[in-house]
Amino acid sequence: MIKVLIIEDEAEILSFLTLELSYEGYEVDTASDGRAGLEKIEKGHYDIVLLDIMLPWLNGIEVCRRARKFTNVPVIMLTARDQVIDKVTGLDTGADDYLTKPFAIEELLARMRSALRRNMIPGAEASLLTFRNLSLNQAACEVKVGNVTIDLTKKEYLLLEYLLQNKNHVLTREQILNAIWGYDYFGDTNVVDVYVRFLRAKLDDSFNEKYITTVRGTGYLMKE
Ligand code: CA
Repeated sequence: MIKVLIIEDEAEILSFLTLELSYEGYEVDTASDGRAGLEKIEKGHYDIVLLDIMLPWLNGIEVCRRARKFTNVPVIMLTARDQVIDKVTGLDTGADDYLTKPFAIEELLARMRSALRRNMIPGAEASLLTFRNLSLNQAACEVKVGNVTIDLTKKEYLLLEYLLQNKNHVLTREQILNAIWGYDYFGDTNVVDVYVRFLRAKLDDSFNEKYITTVRGTGYLMKE
């Protein structure tokens, strides 16, 4: 089931969207202010987020900007008709799409499907992840630096793939642990540091490059 989070403070719109989207088969969760919404994005695992801009506590643009530091979940911004300027800032902030209120539910459903499609089904471009002279071919499960093929273990490969998929986003050790080892992994996050060391030995050290950046006290990222 596709999980959607709706962050909207207007009760009428919120209940309308909840009803419609549940009817369409989505699993719906809601938040009615920006702060609660951001917290839910952080803790829950949603496939898509619908985000109103004018919200109490924290506006939608700020919610999106902060959320982008830890997730690539598709975000569709819902803007009032006269907030043209927000289209620009909204997309700059990392929203995938925007929709002006009032909108037809069919329009929203179409935009949601397209945002989900872009995010879930790897297209031709998505199957080749690149970073500087490093490339990871998802179809072939092959990693190369320039023309040199790199031999990685399964976990090293998954870790590199996850870092590349979230290029320029800081990933916490917990996020990495959950993505690669799963929630049922019994151990501490040190395993993440160990595998980052393995990857660095094969990539950074061998090619005298700094591919993986450590964010002290937080985690790792590959920064372009
Ligand atoms: Ca509002």
